[in-house]
Amino acid sequence: MSAAELKRRGDTHSQTELCSIRVDDRILINIGSCQRSRLTVDDICVIDLEANQIEGKGNAPLERHLHCGIYRVRSDVKAIVHAHPKWSTLLTMVGESYKPVYAQGSLVHPVPLLDSPNSINNRAMADRLAATLADRPAALMKSHGAVTVGKDIVEAFVLANYMEENAYRQYMALQISSARRRSRYAARSSGTRASSRAPGITSARSWVELASLRIARGVKQRTDPAVCPRRQMLAARATESRRRRRRQVAGTARQTVSAQSVPWRAVQTT
Ligand SMILES: [Zn+2]
Repeated sequence: MSAAELKRRGDTHSQTELCSIRVDDRILINIGSCQRSRLTVDDICVIDLEANQIEGKGNAPLERHLHCGIYRVRSDVKAIVHAHPKWSTLLTMVGESYKPVYAQGSLVHPVPLLDSPNSINNRAMADRLAATLADRPAALMKSHGAVTVGKDIVEAFVLANYMEENAYRQYMALQISSARRRSRYAARSSGTRASSRAPGITSARSWVELASLRIARGVKQRTDPAVCPRRQMLAARATESRRRRRRQVAGTARQTVSAQSVPWRAVQTT
């Protein structure tokens, strides 16, 4: 896997990958002005762990500090890939944490997040990122990019691709999930109110899905008593029953009033 392969896949921002490897106390990193998809030997410069350039025909990139900051505190790291991948970065823009949704995606999980979109172009930011990464193999930078580390450049590249592929799948799964939530919400309403209360559920396909959901909940049949003898008979019984109860209640009330009025009349006549 190479930077050119990443570009071909369209998973990363092709002009912004910065890759490096460590050889003892030196760091080999591509220069800032090189074309990432057509690297040559002359595009690789050498810097030290303090981000000072030692060799090279071009200038070391501004974000060389990102690499130096990690190498200074992670002796196990021999290679670093920093890129601005589309899908992983999209998740960080909306506060959606990285979740493994396929097996290879779990290799970098959990992925810590640096809550800053700033370029890692100075020591202070580099130290913040290194602290965020800690002992993990990958980290994300909010609305900025991703960094993966490894024992060699192949491992760092592979992890970068796994993370980006996972982020792509997670993003797509979220679209399906949110569409289903909208469908369920709309299905709680009925008729034209459903479409007006759930913007976006307007296509014929969505309408058919909503109708299917509504039918699955059951549709009560309205039966006209005039054409249903059984319902007609039940309605007549219910009416007669109500009349009987009303008569009973009225009769009880009269008896009570009559019984109470006897002493009163007796008092009046004495
Ligand atoms: Zn960057």
